[in-house]
Order: sequence, then C-alpha cells, then structure tokens
Amino acid sequence: AEELANAHGGTALSLDFSKTTSLDVEATDILINNAAVNISRVNTIDVTLEDWEKNILINLTWPFVLIKKFIPYISEKEIDEIISTLADQLNKDFEGKNPLFIGVLNGSFMFVSDLMKKMKIDVELSFVKFQSYVGTASTGKVSELIGLSADLNKRHVVILEDIVDTGNTMGELLDLLGSEQPASLSIATLLVKPDVFNKKYVLHYVGKNIPNKFVVGFGLDYNELGRNLKEIYQLADNNQHD
Ligand code: 5GP
Repeated sequence: AEELANAHGGTALSLDFSKTTSLDVEATDILINNAAVNISRVNTIDVTLEDWEKNILINLTWPFVLIKKFIPYISEKEIDEIISTLADQLNKDFEGKNPLFIGVLNGSFMFVSDLMKKMKIDVELSFVKFQSYVGTASTGKVSELIGLSADLNKRHVVILEDIVDTGNTMGELLDLLGSEQPASLSIATLLVKPDVFNKKYVLHYVGKNIPNKFVVGFGLDYNELGRNLKEIYQLADNNQHD
C-alpha cells in the first residue's frame, strides 16, 4: 500500500476482502485488480464473490476517505431458518383466525415475501408506509401513515416489521392501528436491537436479537442502497453510524 501511495504521490489503502464485501468510499477512482473503476458517482462499491474468493487487495488511489465497512452477519440460510420459526408460530397461533398481516414498507418487503410463502393458514396481507415530509415551520418534519385501506375492526392484525431499533416507529404504528379497534394486535419483527429498544409494549414474535450496530441487506437499506442483498451485513466495529 505504501509503494502504491508513493507512486500516486499520496496515500493508499489496501483492504483484505476475505472479510469485507462492501464498503463506502469517497474518491475519484479506485483500482480493482489494477483496473481503474470510477466511483465519482457512487459511494458504495460491491466486490464480487469471485474477487472475494481470490482474496484480492483493493487499492484506493489518492484522494480517498474510507467511511463505512460492512461485514457478512446473517447468512441466507440463517435468515430462512429464522423466518421458518416465525411462520411456524404464526401458523399455530392464528389458525382459524384469518389474520390480517400488515407489512411496514419499505424495509419489510423481503421478509414479508418469504414469510408469506411459509404461511399455511388463510391470511390476508396489506402494506403501510410512513411518509415523511417537511411540514410548517412549527411542526417541522412530520410523518404520515399512508396505504391503510383495510378495515381493521375486529380483525386479528399482525404488524410485520424488518427491524425494531428504539421502537419509536412501532410505537406510533401501534397507537394508530390500535385506535381502529382490532380483535388483537401483534408484532412480528425479523430483527430487534434490545439494547436500544426502550418501550413498554410487547414484541410478540422476534426473529433475532442483534447488537446495536447498523445492518443492511435483505430489504434493509443504507442510504437507499443494499436492499437487494440476500444476506444481512453489519457495520464493522471501527465505523460509526451517523
Ligand atoms: P426505530 O423507530 O425502532 O428506532 O427504527 C425505525 C426504523 O429505522 C426501522 O424501521 C428501520 O427502517 C430503521 N433502522 C433502524 N435500525 C436500522 C439498521 O440497523 N439498519 C437499517 N438499514 N435501518 C435501520
């Protein structure tokens, strides 16, 4: 790396991609296996499995700032097992109740899709989304729930969420949906960060408890990117999430 740095009259960094699959960079160009890749328009680069298997070194040419590094955290197989367990519980608990599942967009779409495929009982599905917009000067940033068209009265409602962090979003949703007087209102979430969750309400169905580190993939985004990843990646320790 130092030689490369000198050649470029600046600083360079070599990264071992046996442990890293995606990182965010701010730079004009990088070299991957000596091929220049212009990244002036993107701030995330993904490394292919082939690159990964070759254990390549990626050299960032000057100027660069390494911002974020994500490492593989929950495999496709583990995600599938987690969702199977949740589906088993829901199939059992809601048999004969024709529950109404409500997925919270955008992050939950992959979770909802995989969960639905494992449901054996009759179940209906709808989606909602919190849309934030800038309100008046006095109200500041406001978020509004959109997409709720189903009648929840006397229905067994199960909210499907990708991740519960502080629990603020879910709390808001519970208040809004609870006022529709459903027969029951339950929460199923793929991931929870128990160290941060500070609410009194119960999370009935939890896929996996995770530490307080930012994750991406399987529907979860980082600046709207990464939702397409089949696995879940975790922000590496030496990075701070902003
Ligand atoms: P909460 O209101 O529970 O703090 O978090 C609400 C939302 O923040 C989640 O629905 C999710 O969209 C986002 N969020 C929280 N933690 C993470 C994370 O680790 N990764 C990603 N991609 N989104 C997160």
